[in-house]
Amino acid sequence: MEKFDVIVVGAGLAGLAAAYTLAGEGVEVVVLERGDYPGSKNVSGGRIYVNPVRDLFPGLWDEAPLERAIVREGATLMARNRSFTFHYTGSELRTSPPQSYSVLRSRFDRWFSERVEERGAMLLPKTLVSDVIRENGKIAGVIAAGDELRADVVIACDGALSLIPEKAGLRAPGRPHDNAIGVKELIQLDPNLINERFNVADGEGAAHLFVGDVTKGLFGGGFLYTNRGSVSLGLVVSIEDIAKEEAAGDIPALFEAFKARPEIEPLLRGGKTLEYGAHVIPEGGYRSLCPLVGDGILVAGDSAGFALNLGFTVRGMEYALASGHFAAKAVVQAKAAGRFDAATLSAYQNLLEESFVLHDFKTFQETPRVLSNPHLFGHYPELAGNILRDLYSVPAGPKVPIFTTLRRHLTLSQLWTLLKDAKEVMKI
Ligand SMILES: Cc1cc2nc3c(=O)[nH]c(=O)nc-3n(C[C@H](O)[C@H](O)[C@H](O)COP(=O)(O)OP(=O)(O)OC[C@H]3O[C@@H](n4cnc5c(N)ncnc54)[C@H](O)[C@@H]3O)c2cc1C
Repeated sequence: MEKFDVIVVGAGLAGLAAAYTLAGEGVEVVVLERGDYPGSKNVSGGRIYVNPVRDLFPGLWDEAPLERAIVREGATLMARNRSFTFHYTGSELRTSPPQSYSVLRSRFDRWFSERVEERGAMLLPKTLVSDVIRENGKIAGVIAAGDELRADVVIACDGALSLIPEKAGLRAPGRPHDNAIGVKELIQLDPNLINERFNVADGEGAAHLFVGDVTKGLFGGGFLYTNRGSVSLGLVVSIEDIAKEEAAGDIPALFEAFKARPEIEPLLRGGKTLEYGAHVIPEGGYRSLCPLVGDGILVAGDSAGFALNLGFTVRGMEYALASGHFAAKAVVQAKAAGRFDAATLSAYQNLLEESFVLHDFKTFQETPRVLSNPHLFGHYPELAGNILRDLYSVPAGPKVPIFTTLRRHLTLSQLWTLLKDAKEVMKI
């Protein structure tokens, strides 16, 4: 029977980060991944913010296969027949090192796994973990591809549809309310066309988020990131909303309608779809986090619920990297103490509390509730579009004063609703 110091389940960012840190500290670690290779099963937007995790992995970022440094931000409020867009760029986005990059996970995760193996960790792809081994009330290993593998500690990094914490009795199955479905297409485009269409130079990229009619008013939004020679286009929609709204529940139809929008179609013209993927994103925030520690087990990344959607930023990758790293640090401490019970392993919780991870989740704990306001996805995009339509229109006869135009749209009851919603938004 095999026995390791640590078994990591899942070679996504959380699992690879845990193994990278453990192997760097001389801990014997095996990573079990169900996919053909790390990155083969991972769907992400993806844009990665390196600043929060740069110092946790010194030297890693200089060689990393990242796509383009994001120097242009954009956001669009989409109404049914019109839209309102703003762009932002600033000198700080062009300073070195850049704060964020577009990234393709199939490329990045594969490269990262090679760095992990170079440090001495063992990686077993095509290995599905189906259960945990429990002995004397403690998690003592896993069942993988029918074999029993034992370890002092199991780190569950098996992503959003995580099975391991459930099997270990740490949590109940996820609720629709706390999860969204994300779909994404990778569309090949000539790098020079990308530069022209998105107003960027070689190595520079653009990130753009969309809200409103793109999800037909459901809680969620669209995203577009430019890679070196491709564009990542996707939609994220609340699973609870999809289940409620039968008519809008057809995600592929929503996605095709998004691609056909006049704001999007010219940007993709001539492109060729290379990949299509869909994945769950845990978006329940702080209140829906999984218990992070048990006897002989730690939970990191999406498996723990570490993804945060603030509307203008969607972040999960840095939380996965950081939580994997801190789980590894806690195991190193436990190994020195020679104890792997929940009390000793709770150093992980403390490390997360002291870091940006749990700080962020606590700071933005009201966000999932505030952002689930349906006005944000239907009413306000239409309102903004209608006001702009009337302000820009020049009729055949005389034009009404601007104040009259505004008052026509912003009645007293509208203003009252706007104030109430604004008060809620101020909580995040
Ligand atoms: C459409 C979409 C867009 C997103 N956009 C962004 C973005 O722009 N920026 C951002 O920061 N985040 C984004 N996210 C979230 C981000 O992708 C995740 O938070 C991040 O990938 C989590 O990493 P992880 O390692 O925890 O999980 P994953 O990357 O999902 O890795 C889990 C791994 O575990 C393996 N696995 C699962 N079960 C088992 C098992 N039983 N046995 C063996 N192996 C198993 C899987 O094959 C997988 O390799 C997006 C997510 C989606 C779906």
